[in-house]
Amino acid sequence: MNQGVMLNAYPDSMGKNLGDIVAVLEKPELKDAFSSFYILPSMFHTDLDRGFSVQDYGLEESLATREDLQHLMDLGIDLKLDFILNHASVLSPQFQDLIKHGDASKYKDFFINWNTFWEGHGTMNAEGFIEPDADLIKDMFFRKPGLPILMVEFPDGHQVPYWNTFYQKVWEEHGKTQYLGQMDLNIKSELVWEFYEDTLRTLASYGASIVRLDAFAYASKEVGKRNFFNEPETWEILERLTKLANKYGLTFLPEIHASYEEARFRQVTDKGYMTYDFFLPGLIIDALESGNGSHLQKWANEIQDNHIGVVNMLGCHDGIPLLDLKGILPEAQIQNLIDVVVARGGFVKDLHGAKNVYYQVNATYYSALGDNDKKMLLARALQMFMPGKPQVWYLDLFAGKNDHEAMKRAGEGGHKEINRTNLSTEEINDRLTWPVVRKQIELLQLRNTHPAFGEGAHMDFTCNGSKVAITWTKGDAKISLDADLSAATYTIRK
Ligand code: BGC
Repeated sequence: MNQGVMLNAYPDSMGKNLGDIVAVLEKPELKDAFSSFYILPSMFHTDLDRGFSVQDYGLEESLATREDLQHLMDLGIDLKLDFILNHASVLSPQFQDLIKHGDASKYKDFFINWNTFWEGHGTMNAEGFIEPDADLIKDMFFRKPGLPILMVEFPDGHQVPYWNTFYQKVWEEHGKTQYLGQMDLNIKSELVWEFYEDTLRTLASYGASIVRLDAFAYASKEVGKRNFFNEPETWEILERLTKLANKYGLTFLPEIHASYEEARFRQVTDKGYMTYDFFLPGLIIDALESGNGSHLQKWANEIQDNHIGVVNMLGCHDGIPLLDLKGILPEAQIQNLIDVVVARGGFVKDLHGAKNVYYQVNATYYSALGDNDKKMLLARALQMFMPGKPQVWYLDLFAGKNDHEAMKRAGEGGHKEINRTNLSTEEINDRLTWPVVRKQIELLQLRNTHPAFGEGAHMDFTCNGSKVAITWTKGDAKISLDADLSAATYTIRK
């Protein structure tokens, strides 16, 4: 897989649509900056969760067309696209068919009827859903308070609970309850596997080379298990999916958030997959704030010594990961990082109300660093010199600040909007003149084109408190970053 720099954005993040993004990427200022582009899934027909609730994988033509995708490929940019295997929208044809035909639907078992699943393992309550026995539920991993259920109304008026791990929206309109939701798929249904194959074929037809396996660890559901990364089922699912991916020439990037001490990333790489470096965003903020690069050094060496194939990042469409940091940073330093980012206007999300089980902190990376150009540039330089394939969130590149207004507009559960501001073409053109943007682009171009980086290159990382030096060598080519974390300064030697 190419180790070059990857842009990450929604199709309407930089201008109105993907065509506008292509026009930005064609500008001389951005020449050679990117080799890949992770386009977020609102390029498909979607509703909730800004794209992660897919109705179908057809292109949302107001945002992205086949011509735009072809243009990207003509620019030498390959694609990373999402395969959202855990769920599909209430508005998917499959769920709509189920609502329409009930038990007679072809898709009767495509989703997970909560009461059927838990039958014999709990007590039916007055609201019409089974409360699983306490010993079965106590170790289950949930993403929101209460049971992960959406009550679905059938035409005859009867209500049935369906499994719904992620978002839902229920409201009254025209005297009727309306709802949307990301409905979990039943991995045991062969029709689901047919749908998976269709989806992978479609993604390949769009030119995807990397396929991100969104939230894949939730896919296996078993009575009596944690229902997050069930073993061995999750591995069996991955294996079966990989056979399909091979058929269509796709490489998987499984997405999983788990603490460092759980070492899931190790298992995933041992099985031959790439993995996300969700530690780096926190490690870099910690290094810059504490003026000590030793944790970063240790992690960089661990990646290299163990040949861990990572995609890394500073910001992304989700928050800055915290849960992941347990074990790679001492607790007190994680807490300090949270305090710093919150004091700069960030917002902490914990896991379903449980105190001290922090999941992510929501902020733009630039604001997390105190809207400080020097720190942003050093953070970017460090990322470019870390092992792995670097992914670049557009709003970090364009020095976006926390968007509290967008967060308010989005209401409850809308905290991620703090870091998802759409920039108009005019704003992009203006920001392309800002030094903090221009100098970041230079760093991306260097990382993307210098012969000392890439497959087969060797990294040497030295750290003496605040002084960090990272050198890459490949054949005769060599490049070094010398940084002072406390002063937020660096130089590059070629
Ligand atoms: C994505 C989130 C999304 C969730 C459900 C995640 O892992 O990154 O943005 O809400 O999957 O699809």
